[in-house]
Amino acid sequence: MCSSVVAYSFRHIPPLMLGSVPLLCLNRHNTLPSPCTVLFNTSSSTSLSSCGLLNPFNFTGNYLFRRMERFWSGSSVNKNKGMVEHLQRYGVIQSKKVAEVMETVDRALFVPDGSPAYEDSPIQIGFNATISAPHMHATCLQLLEKNLQPGMHALDVGSGTGYLTACFALMVGPQGRAIGVEHIPELVAMSLKNVGKSAAAPLLKDGSLALHVGDGREGWPEFAPYDAIHVGAAAPEIPKPLIEQLKPGGRLVIPVGNIFQELKVVDKNADGSVTVRTETSVRYVPLTSREAQLRGY
Ligand code: SAH
Repeated sequence: MCSSVVAYSFRHIPPLMLGSVPLLCLNRHNTLPSPCTVLFNTSSSTSLSSCGLLNPFNFTGNYLFRRMERFWSGSSVNKNKGMVEHLQRYGVIQSKKVAEVMETVDRALFVPDGSPAYEDSPIQIGFNATISAPHMHATCLQLLEKNLQPGMHALDVGSGTGYLTACFALMVGPQGRAIGVEHIPELVAMSLKNVGKSAAAPLLKDGSLALHVGDGREGWPEFAPYDAIHVGAAAPEIPKPLIEQLKPGGRLVIPVGNIFQELKVVDKNADGSVTVRTETSVRYVPLTSREAQLRGY
């Protein structure tokens, strides 16, 4: 089955939906993903309609994969739009604004040439990192939507390809700030190129979108406090500086854990206290030191 699955994420599926779903698995050798089937054992309060990986007819992975492949390759007009519509049809995207921003930012500009940009799977981008799967980007954008209003400040820790930072920038607009922090300089250079080709390019030019090399565990104090903080890598525990740099009323979305990880939603209340809840089970690459990441964690 999957020799090495990196940074895919999944929602638990309620017991009735126990079955097989297709996942696209990545191996250590940077080759293209191949379809495989993973059995989910399930327990969660996540509603059916919000599940990203439903398989209501209990099709086998390969059957469903072929159907999806036909769907994607058959859409000649706008495959990125097709990807978004697919996520809407499966109930992953429920917000109009998130659909709009994901339609506007073409995922193909952020993945290595020749990768299956519009498949709902993570893709290796080098340096033991991946671009997250579209359903995970959609989930995080929806969780943060209220904190990504025009004029607000957003921080994207572990910005990788720059995809989500670009989405944030378009949502907060030129009066807002979207800051990406990534600790691999080559990825920051690549993300600057990616964003420069995307619909968010003018925001990079005018300085409301910026991508920096740094240890994201320290946040980015210069533009704190933030209305929204997203972390794209799993932390053993929630880094204190990120909570400190959250505005009262602000929200942090962060995967926490090692092998078993949960996407946590941290809300800072008006009095400075925080409320933490678990959104779903996920799997991300670790939020770690550059050295640990480059030697394979
Ligand atoms: N959300 C991004 C990337 C996800 S992969 C995207 O979808 O494109 C997680 C990223 O976190 C990787 O690029 C990795 O290099 C980065 N990362 C891991 N630990 C980090 C740290 N301490 N500081 C900054 N970036 C980190």
